[in-house]
Amino acid sequence: MAETIQTDVPPPNVDLDNEQFWAAANRRQLRIGQCTKCQKAFFYPRHFCPFCLSADVDWALASGKAQIYSYTVMRRVDNPYVLAYVQLDEGPAMMTNIVECDFESLRVGQIVEAVYATSKNGSLVPMFRPIDGH
Ligand SMILES: [Zn+2]
Repeated sequence: MAETIQTDVPPPNVDLDNEQFWAAANRRQLRIGQCTKCQKAFFYPRHFCPFCLSADVDWALASGKAQIYSYTVMRRVDNPYVLAYVQLDEGPAMMTNIVECDFESLRVGQIVEAVYATSKNGSLVPMFRPIDGH
């Protein structure tokens, strides 16, 4: 099971479109949209498929494995952090933070895995960290 890390991240903005995503995150699961009509996986969570516009969508459990597509180290703040786009093994990309990492050793294509950060209101927020050896 993925560990939980402590951060000062703000709580997620939960709305009707994404409440199942955040409920899953609180169970340490990463859920992505899966269209039952065209079979494509997508992110961000929503109630219709962005490819074929079908409302016949489901929530698939993602492996939590991804690779860094692009990233930026945000240094001009009190606690520098890494903002990144990662591409999930299932295909969709998501914007996230890379944590528990050496900023200098990050690179595009690096393999990362999901971890869960506790936000200010206690909700868990999925983030990613490098997997050792990659
Ligand atoms: Zn579709």
